[in-house]
Amino acid sequence: HSKAAGRNSFHFYTQEMNIEANRRLQLEEQLHNALDRNELRLLYQPVVDLKTRKIVGAEALLRWDSKELGAISPEEFIPVAEHTGLIVEIGKFVLDDALRTTSRWIKTFIPDFHIAINLSPRQFRDPHLIDNIESFVNSYGLEGRNLELEITEGVLMSQHADVEEAIAKLTQKGISISMDDFGTGYSSLSYLRSYPFNILKVDRSFINDISVDAADLELVNASIDMAHGLGLKVIAEGVETEEQTALLLRKNCDMAQGYYFSKPIPADELEEILKKQTSH
Ligand code: C2E
Ligand code: MG
Ligand code: MG
Ligand code: MG
Repeated sequence: HSKAAGRNSFHFYTQEMNIEANRRLQLEEQLHNALDRNELRLLYQPVVDLKTRKIVGAEALLRWDSKELGAISPEEFIPVAEHTGLIVEIGKFVLDDALRTTSRWIKTFIPDFHIAINLSPRQFRDPHLIDNIESFVNSYGLEGRNLELEITEGVLMSQHADVEEAIAKLTQKGISISMDDFGTGYSSLSYLRSYPFNILKVDRSFINDISVDAADLELVNASIDMAHGLGLKVIAEGVETEEQTALLLRKNCDMAQGYYFSKPIPADELEEILKKQTSH
């Protein structure tokens, strides 16, 4: 009886592994053509100043609508893009598209806007990364301060000697460096000490329960104070309620991002909102 169950679960297990491996292969295969087929597009999630409740920037978030496989979440395809190295080409598209789109708004009506772009560890092994960023910023007539690059511990953990040099070059141009998903890694504090971050993004898993969990609120409060002590600005991620917003303001958090303010939206929608905001 128990033997049969064991055999069944073993069978089930391998079948599941097969399905997973197949899925990964399919994703790899389809991702190769995604750029050429125009299946990748960016959405923009507004970042709000907590004091004024005005939009001061946005994070570019990638979407893949595969003709073969349907909509695939970035949590699933970004790792595949990294593993295959496709992220280098895709990341270049993200930088180009996001900077081109936002430069039109920045030049015509919102000069202080900043656009945040996520960088993957693999992109730091691309010898052209810095040159590409510089040439997009220059050719679209932007200032360094309009661009914010989000990196996670993963980038720093890859211990590539060039990461430090790359980050130094970027900050010299006035580009901001954010530590994304703060608190979820193993050694966020030591990275905070070793790299010239400008912004701390507190992970949404810490923000979730701040209105019901005193310990979470205290952790967020301490993170904000520490960041300020080090001269960093703080963005709270995943803010979903007015209660959370009010608490974060009371704890002197600088900015917030989350469904309470807006889900990630297409560029033209954000443009309309920004136009209304600046005409007031
Ligand atoms: P992330 O950089 O931490 O981005 C924030 C994620 O939280 C986004 O998920 C966003 O849609 C989601 N989010 C925002 N507000 C809320 C909220 O109030 N509640 C909840 N539950 N979720 C919220 P998304 O768009 O699925 O992206 C997932 C991750 O994929 C990103 O996490 C980022 O690490 C990665 N990613 C997305 N676009 C790119 C890209 O262009 N390049 C790279 N390298 N990674 C990307
Ligand atoms: Mg991010
Ligand atoms: Mg994040
Ligand atoms: Mg994340």
